[in-house]
Amino acid sequence: MFNALIMEKNDDGLASATIKEIGEDQLPEGNVTVAIEYSTVNYKDGLCLSAKGGGLVRNYPHVPGIDFAGTVESSDDDRYKAGDKVVLTGWRVGEMYWGGYAQKARVNADWLVPLPAGLTPQQAMAVGTAGFTSMLAVMALEDHGLKPGQGPVLVTGAAGGVGSVATAILANLGYEVAGVTGRPDTEDYLKSLGATQIVPREDLNETTKRPLEAETWAGCVDAVGGEMLARVLGQMKYGGSVSAVGLAGGAGLPATVIPFLLRGVNLLGIDSVMQPYENRLRAWERIAKDLPMDKLEAMVKPATLSDLPQLGADILQGLVKGRVVVDVN
Ligand code: NDP
Repeated sequence: MFNALIMEKNDDGLASATIKEIGEDQLPEGNVTVAIEYSTVNYKDGLCLSAKGGGLVRNYPHVPGIDFAGTVESSDDDRYKAGDKVVLTGWRVGEMYWGGYAQKARVNADWLVPLPAGLTPQQAMAVGTAGFTSMLAVMALEDHGLKPGQGPVLVTGAAGGVGSVATAILANLGYEVAGVTGRPDTEDYLKSLGATQIVPREDLNETTKRPLEAETWAGCVDAVGGEMLARVLGQMKYGGSVSAVGLAGGAGLPATVIPFLLRGVNLLGIDSVMQPYENRLRAWERIAKDLPMDKLEAMVKPATLSDLPQLGADILQGLVKGRVVVDVN
């Protein structure tokens, strides 16, 4: 028997979480069983922990947790054997399939990645989907020509999970980083991660009638979307790229095409969920190499399974700073 945080629908049709002891026979089908050590909390986990499942959870009872890291306990797949350390992010695990908020998971071997050399399971979950996606976003900017010395790189939602890791990676790679935050009290924290400029959220969260403003940013990792992304597009330097990662500020995009046509600005879509295996390996290797572990540790808040309902509500309100690491044991 082992512990799992299970979401079940109540008589009112709304779901709530309880920690229960369940048996391995209750785990879903799959060819690898993993003893989970750590999981984490992303924005999407907040949605899956909410009473309506954020439109992501199809069936109840459900175990949320879109990320986990741990040790293979048994495997029917040649690529993995008992004792291997593994990490899982994405593939709709924790949404459509049972996820990481439990002491064990049974999954499809295709979804796993060997834990990269140099990272512990705890560090891998300090990274999690948020950090993995930040690295995909930085790689996309580099693939489109971004190099240090071209000007400041903007990170929106900077004190959140994606934003914190993006800030630390970019600063470590030698970029000048400007962080947008709605929480002025996070200024010291963002500077400790390497941001040299703090942009108050209110400076960017209003639309303007001007499709182009002063050319300011050489690149951008955007976790916010909505009006802020529209505004940022008009402030990009000639030929600059924005990696669109998130929608913490809204899914709309009230923009014009002028920045694309007159400044050759690129809007790059970043998806971490269905990311092909080879690029996953590349991103995890880059994380082990380019994300300073002391900075990662400075952004981590530890938690246990019982903290998750509250943390889920907090992250949806933009109240979680940095990254949460959940010790499921
Ligand atoms: P967090 O909640 O940790 O971070 C989001 C940050 O955005 C907040 O901390 C806050 O930063 C800022 N923010 C929140 N609300 C608003 C608002 N109304 N207007 C402007 N800024 C706001 O979430 P994550 O970092 O885990 O995820 C960020 C986004 O990226 C989410 O939308 C998530 O769904 C998406 N995402 C997408 C992935 C993909 O594959 N494309 C993968 C992972 C995440 P501050 O306090 O500094 O202002």
